[in-house]
Amino acid sequence: FFRALEQTGIRLNEPQIEAVRTTEGPVLINAGAGSGKTTVLTCRTAYLMLVKDVPPRNIVLVTFTRQAARQMKERLLSIPGVTQAMVKQIITGTFHSLARMIYFHKLTDPPRIMSEKQKEFMIEQITKELATGEQYEPETLLSLLAYLKNNLCVVGDAWVTEEVEGLKDDARRVLKRYESHKRENNLIDYEDLITGCIETLRAYPEYLAALQRRMAYIMVDEYQDTNIAQYEMIRMLSKESNLCVVGDPDQAIYGWRGAEPSIILRFPEEHAGCTRITLDINYRSPSGVVGLGNEVIRHNRKRFKKELRVLPGEAGLPKYFATRSVEKEAEAVLALIEQLVESGDYTHRDIAVLYRTHSTARTLYEKLLLSGIPFTTHRDDPTFYELSTIRPVLDFMRLSLDPYNEAALESILPCLYISKARYMKEIQIISIQQGVSYVEALRHLKALPSFQRRRLIEQVDWLHSIARLSPLQAVREIRNEAGGGYDKFLGSEQNGAVTYHKEMLRDDLFELEEAVKAFGTVSEFLSYVDTILIQKETRKKTQQAGQGVTLQTIHSAKGLEYPVVILIGAIDGVLPHSIAVDPEEKPDFWLHKKSEEKKDEAMEEERRLAYVAVTRAMKELYISSPQYFRGKPAGLSPLLLDAFNEAVKIPSSG
Ligand code: ATP
Ligand code: MG
Repeated sequence: FFRALEQTGIRLNEPQIEAVRTTEGPVLINAGAGSGKTTVLTCRTAYLMLVKDVPPRNIVLVTFTRQAARQMKERLLSIPGVTQAMVKQIITGTFHSLARMIYFHKLTDPPRIMSEKQKEFMIEQITKELATGEQYEPETLLSLLAYLKNNLCVVGDAWVTEEVEGLKDDARRVLKRYESHKRENNLIDYEDLITGCIETLRAYPEYLAALQRRMAYIMVDEYQDTNIAQYEMIRMLSKESNLCVVGDPDQAIYGWRGAEPSIILRFPEEHAGCTRITLDINYRSPSGVVGLGNEVIRHNRKRFKKELRVLPGEAGLPKYFATRSVEKEAEAVLALIEQLVESGDYTHRDIAVLYRTHSTARTLYEKLLLSGIPFTTHRDDPTFYELSTIRPVLDFMRLSLDPYNEAALESILPCLYISKARYMKEIQIISIQQGVSYVEALRHLKALPSFQRRRLIEQVDWLHSIARLSPLQAVREIRNEAGGGYDKFLGSEQNGAVTYHKEMLRDDLFELEEAVKAFGTVSEFLSYVDTILIQKETRKKTQQAGQGVTLQTIHSAKGLEYPVVILIGAIDGVLPHSIAVDPEEKPDFWLHKKSEEKKDEAMEEERRLAYVAVTRAMKELYISSPQYFRGKPAGLSPLLLDAFNEAVKIPSSG
């Protein structure tokens, strides 16, 4: 088997072979980036099927993202002897897809998963019904509930809320009503997939026993980012099976979403006779990059020391360039990409640009779009202007210019706390019968309570005035005034994989202020946006998916690798992100620890992010930092100081 593997270019080292061979009993592989953890899982799966004759249907492979699950299947297929038919039978997927399968199997009428908008609307209605003393932002309550579920404080009807500080009676009443409302209407949240699965397993012991028998070999990748609920699910399912988990606590970057890195550290205590394996050779990156990774993560205090070695080869020192502005940074990256491709050493596909938040990459995205260089974003990400945070702001502007714009009106109604489902029809009828615009029709809505009506009439006058402002003033007005302040309303719609904090959404609005600065009037700005959107559509038609340069956040690049990685926006305030490390910005239920401690913890998570970012590079790593960011001088990222000191500085035109 191992010789056959070598044909595919993979000659496993001693501990890797041990990991593949130790198929029975609990196994923990705790190892650094690029040391072959995922490779070992793939080889182990093949080994089980080809050498141990384990039927593929008895093997479970859990990955963190769908992209990783797909990659795992591809890698498996490249091993000689592994067939399509085998791969099809293996249970491969994310925690959520596995949970959904188990949970829905027992239901004749599976529930529907609610969208963020639906969830927020339901919370608003309930808050009104219950007439709570305090006004809660739906977004805050919902992230609290998700937090409770991820920590198994809420499973079905069972509430263990005593464990959560700061949950006021009113908030609990709203959330309880919300839960029962959902149940009555056969609706669920995303988090309910996991808790629903656990409930099902608890309710049907025979079903559980059957699953336990079937799932004889369970393997989990990226185990450092599991949360309590996911842990419980795996714990129940793996009672009878041979559980193998792999992970790297230094790459735990989903703490803000409830992941609990102590779970991986407790594994040996909870599994008697556990085999522990450490892999310490990095096969992915040149020594310069591995050295930088080691240096970056070394500064975290709460960690188990492990250093990665590399086999002899080229040094591949990281390269660093500074530019004056974000604009210049984007131009430099474009030039770099062209140069790399012209050299003949790389194709566009070999290159990835990574960034801390989506909004950091707005300028680059637009320049790439207009340049014609092929590129892809993760799962067809929306452009900046289509983000759920940004779109309504633009729609306020659009309506101001064109009060008959129906789509724009529909998009902003929720921000004015007006139900689309209930009033859109009436607005259309008023508009036709009285011959007025959609915006004017808002003045005549009948069924609204009088206080809301008065407010709405004021808003109509205000809406008309936006078009006359400069685009920057317009954005600021909308943030402060629309429906009592758009900032307050700000939704939490997820765009594909959730890659950043809900609080971070506000960051998008600062970027929007940056984006509009170049324009004199609202209509000039909106026509630029149209150009970008049209360009995007054209590109979609002409370009195949998965081709070209990859643009993605560091969060979504976890576990992946690229020959060339360009990390942009390596400045203080972006990496580490100022909102993420400022405890004041987080709701107080987030972590019940003292502020300073929270801050340290957040900073360590940002450092792990920097570690994940730099360790994605297989041949070359470039790091860039603009000297000015959103109008202010920007310092170099303190997390990457070693890179700036030791890296090769390359001059750039900016
Ligand atoms: P991460 O922590 O980023 O998830 P990982 O530990 O899962 O990384 P892999 O993705 O499995 O690491 O491996 C990193 C790279 O090293 C891959 O390109 C893989 O093919 C290669 N690799 C792993 N082991 C070997 C080996 N023994 N010989 C040659 N190449 C290897
Ligand atoms: Mg991996």
